[in-house]
Amino acid sequence: MSKFMTYDYWHETYKPIKNTVSKYPDDNLIHFETYGDEYEAVSQAHEINPKTIWTEVDGDSGTYIVAGWHFVNRIHYYITENPWEDEWTEVPTWCYRECDNADDNDGECPRECEECNGESTIDVPCDTVDDLKWIYGQDNNDIVA
Ligand SMILES: [Zn+2]
Repeated sequence: MSKFMTYDYWHETYKPIKNTVSKYPDDNLIHFETYGDEYEAVSQAHEINPKTIWTEVDGDSGTYIVAGWHFVNRIHYYITENPWEDEWTEVPTWCYRECDNADDNDGECPRECEECNGESTIDVPCDTVDDLKWIYGQDNNDIVA
């Protein structure tokens, strides 16, 4: 059973640590790359407590931060101060759906498509609990906040 939460709730609850390993440090930098020193930092944190590691992955209809250390479709890692409780936690960071006209166009919309301007996909907001209900179902009881 998956749990879903907004990025803001995740950020507030689990408190991602700053990436101070990066060659391009920035006060807002919290993701870690999947290679080099940054990956090494994730690996070390994983040894201390595997439940502090999260992976941002590329999914079927967007990108998600999921609990745990994963390799398939990974984009970034995060290390949090507070450990996750449920290994099936999912935090959408970017969502899209296929354009309604894409089927009529063999999945690829022409640039003239008024709905998507030829992108063939349309961004779906995923910032609030209401947004998540539209994505995962209005009656979904697994949306934490
Ligand atoms: Zn379209």
